[in-house]
Amino acid sequence: MTAIGTPENPLRVAVVGSGPAGFYTAEHLLKNADLKVTVDMFDRLPTPFGLVRFGVAPDHQKIKNVTRVFEKIASLDGFRFLGNVDVGSDITLQDLQNHYHQVCYATGAPSDRRMGIEGEDLQRSHPATDFVAWYNGHPDYRDYEFDLSVKSVAVVGVGNVAVDVARILCLTEEELKKTDIAEHALEQLIESNITDVYMLGRRGPAQAAFTNPEARELGELAGADIIVKPEEAALDPLSQELVEKEDDRKLRQKIEMIQAFSAKEPEGKSKRLTLRFLVSPVALLDDGNGGVGGMQIVKNELTRTDDGWIKPRATETTEDIPVDMVFRSVGYRGTPIADLPFDDKRATVPQTNGRVTDGGGGKQIPGLYVAGWIKRGPTGIIGTNKPDGYETAASMAEDAAMGIGFDPNNTSIDAVDSLAKAKGFRPVSFDEWKRIDELETERGLAKGKPRDKFTRVSEIIEALGK
Ligand code: NAP
Repeated sequence: MTAIGTPENPLRVAVVGSGPAGFYTAEHLLKNADLKVTVDMFDRLPTPFGLVRFGVAPDHQKIKNVTRVFEKIASLDGFRFLGNVDVGSDITLQDLQNHYHQVCYATGAPSDRRMGIEGEDLQRSHPATDFVAWYNGHPDYRDYEFDLSVKSVAVVGVGNVAVDVARILCLTEEELKKTDIAEHALEQLIESNITDVYMLGRRGPAQAAFTNPEARELGELAGADIIVKPEEAALDPLSQELVEKEDDRKLRQKIEMIQAFSAKEPEGKSKRLTLRFLVSPVALLDDGNGGVGGMQIVKNELTRTDDGWIKPRATETTEDIPVDMVFRSVGYRGTPIADLPFDDKRATVPQTNGRVTDGGGGKQIPGLYVAGWIKRGPTGIIGTNKPDGYETAASMAEDAAMGIGFDPNNTSIDAVDSLAKAKGFRPVSFDEWKRIDELETERGLAKGKPRDKFTRVSEIIEALGK
């Protein structure tokens, strides 16, 4: 087979999705000295950066500085951003196969996992991911409604998303105003009546999924006291044994921090954030009008499975907690991509080193690749996408050298523009995004915040003037 990626036959790659995984994959391809390559990065939205823009909490501006790295990648020769193009509707996989040798999907895990309990679909029971997207100004969630007039909220799960949601609900007006939280969310959070937030972990402190720096912030909130029951902060014998056996400094620090929270006297702040362990929701209770009016939880104990997993097991002891709203924060979930195989159990696309296969351990489907959460599942921090994207890019480069890919009939750089004209979609370039970035920053400056986001696609296109 003829090698692709040579000066005579440059490799044309389409990356679908402009979050961290997409950018790191593009970087590794574009910096490969042995490869002559151009990368077109598509995003359904006119703005790049995926979860860095719509997932990272608005009060975590430092984490967002990673966009500087992505900007450098975008300035590499051969890179092009095509925002506001929905692969699957504006452009089909067949169109991409006509114009590119390889396509890498880095579209993340856009849905959420369910708890599978009675009452889960009552009003005021929401996926935490919807709330996160709403307060971060994601256009798809702009008109979602969250009734923040309630007093008491439960966040199910103790991962970093749960921590973000609980913290955002507890921040003071002063703290919120300094963030780049979407204006519509800021207005409603300032007016919120919420005084009590419960975070519910089904296992113990030693199994809490949150990371230490994130959890530490919960103990430093200006407007909320942290409350942990001492008996729930204490380790059960199984966890105690594991902690003693494993030499894990971070885990010990996490447990110490949680135990320090439990020893803290409340200072009478206006809100209370109660962190519970070893409890699982059993049912959401109807308030009589189809809304959440409480939650029944059951006390758990821990057991170990044959393969060593520490598992929660329900006891006979139940308790009702007085909550009027619930955010389930039990993990994101991947969704099937048109024309690609899908492993429903793992909610990922089956792959080997980023090469899409026709089932777990199955044959490679030449030309198709995945990176990020749709490849490995919704775990890890932004930096985890670097080795992940690099692995996929290395597979793509190896395959190109062996001539493995699609057989496009028109690899001209203008082909997408012609398609856009013919099909009537309007790609947004990286330079145009930079203009939006400037406008958002200017608008933010006027309000004393780092950025005031546009939250509707139409506003963005209008601001671009065409
Ligand atoms: P996660 O870290 O996987 O946490 C999910 C939580 O939900 C865990 O506490 C899990 O408990 C719990 N859970 C799952 N099923 C449950 C059930 N049926 N009932 C009760 N609890 C249940 O997921 P995430 O919080 O969505 O975060 C996704 C990824 O993004 C993570 O890798 C996270 O670190 C990362 N992230 C990082 C940051 C940051 O660095 N600042 C911010 C946000 C997100 P078990 O452990 O018992 O399963």
